[in-house]
Amino acid sequence: MVSLTKNSSILIVGGGTWGCSTALHLARRGYKNVTVLEAHPIPSPISAGNDVNKIMEEGEPSETDTEEQYVWNRMHQLTTKYWKEDHVFKSFYHPTGIIFSAISDDVYEHVKGYTKGTESEWAALNSPEDFKKTMPQGVLQGDFPGWKGFWKDHGAGWVFARGAMVSAYEEALKLGVNFITGESAGKVTTLLYSDSKDTITGAQTVDGTSHYADQTILCAGANGDLLFDFEQQLRPTAWTLAHIPLSIEEAALFKNLPVLYNPERGFFVEPDAEKRELKFCDEHPGYINMVKTATPGYREGTTHSQPFARHQIPVESETRMRKFLQEAMPQIANRDFSFARICWDADTVDRQFLIDRPKGKSGLVVAAGGSGMGFMMMPVVGQLIVDRMEDVLEERLQKGLRWRPEQAIGRDWQAIQDRHGGEGKIMDFHDVKGWTSGKGDQVPNAEPAKDTKMCNSM
Ligand code: FAD
Repeated sequence: MVSLTKNSSILIVGGGTWGCSTALHLARRGYKNVTVLEAHPIPSPISAGNDVNKIMEEGEPSETDTEEQYVWNRMHQLTTKYWKEDHVFKSFYHPTGIIFSAISDDVYEHVKGYTKGTESEWAALNSPEDFKKTMPQGVLQGDFPGWKGFWKDHGAGWVFARGAMVSAYEEALKLGVNFITGESAGKVTTLLYSDSKDTITGAQTVDGTSHYADQTILCAGANGDLLFDFEQQLRPTAWTLAHIPLSIEEAALFKNLPVLYNPERGFFVEPDAEKRELKFCDEHPGYINMVKTATPGYREGTTHSQPFARHQIPVESETRMRKFLQEAMPQIANRDFSFARICWDADTVDRQFLIDRPKGKSGLVVAAGGSGMGFMMMPVVGQLIVDRMEDVLEERLQKGLRWRPEQAIGRDWQAIQDRHGGEGKIMDFHDVKGWTSGKGDQVPNAEPAKDTKMCNSM
């Protein structure tokens, strides 16, 4: 391995959530020769973090933590500090509180588990009236059939995701990072290897340029295993999100709201300030797209999930979303959506992030496996990646985030991994009957979306 100096060439593949954070941390640490290759202008339309908001929860380790809990809680502690104190991030965090709720007894028990150790901070919600009181009168008009849960008005909330990602990008740019973006100059087709194949020496882009580097960092999110053999540690999994436009009066009422989260139905966060659109998701274990095409990790004919972009959602997802809205906010449940898309992240087997130097390969750090929870950690994740690159990562974190293919041997691609909602199972996009943008339109599954530029982009 080349020993790195502040003048070493460092190449980041993927300028999304984690890539922008990594660029920022490298620049802040004084690295002078950092290049990011990103397939789209930033913020990339396919980045999981290119979204109006994401849930953020604060936390800190305790003495009774298991090793696994410690890793999460330590990352929470570090990220919370950035969201509250760092000028790049702090204006984007809104600690408006959160409601965790459920319907069935077993999921309720699961939700109750979130409150363990901090019971005194949570108010129990046992009736529709209890739920309605968590927000200004008129926001929650639903009957909340069978819902129960817990609410706290501090220590959690939401972040303006796109804003935070762009803020990290702009600061990194200001500090001298070179961003090369676009489908020709920025999209990586392959990583480059030494003749002996044991060292990654950079990456090649669609325009044929070879970008050689002393150190490559792979931050391509759910698309990571199109470029490198992760030995089945990543399962690209998609979820579904949509927006509903609100009137000026509604948007004024829907302000400073706690996040409403129900793992059996969905969640929503208050409308964004610019467009007055309310974003929400239906909850389910996720969609996969099983194909048999060859990639670095899979021989032709071997089944694995592969991401694609689409600015529509399955019709069944719209049905679930409207059911969720009907139960919580029926006054907007039948309104046309103004936006809908599928959004991919990569699930590791244990849903812990994967930030490490892969065994047997020099010159590469991989950073992937957000597992549906990687945005709130965005400010700190770049720090962890650079720490790993410099071999100074805290030992317990390094162990938790390690390269761990042994977990993925014979991996069950259908595993729901502690998720709920939908039909309680992983769904395959091939089985979807139709697609919609939530405006009363519908196309059969075989037809491509109209937004072909976006859909064919990966
Ligand atoms: P991305 O942000 O997707 O970045 C990958 C980047 O790589 C993209 O910009 C892409 O354009 C680029 N790229 C891909 N291939 C190439 C290539 N060949 N060449 C060059 N560039 C390439 N987390 C939370 O903490 N809270 C939440 O509330 C939350 N909600 C979520 C809701 C949904 C619907 C989804 C899908 C995820 C959610 N997450 C949440 C998870 C979080 O968004 C992700 O874990 C995180 O954004 C992953 O970051 P990433 O950098 O790995 O991937």
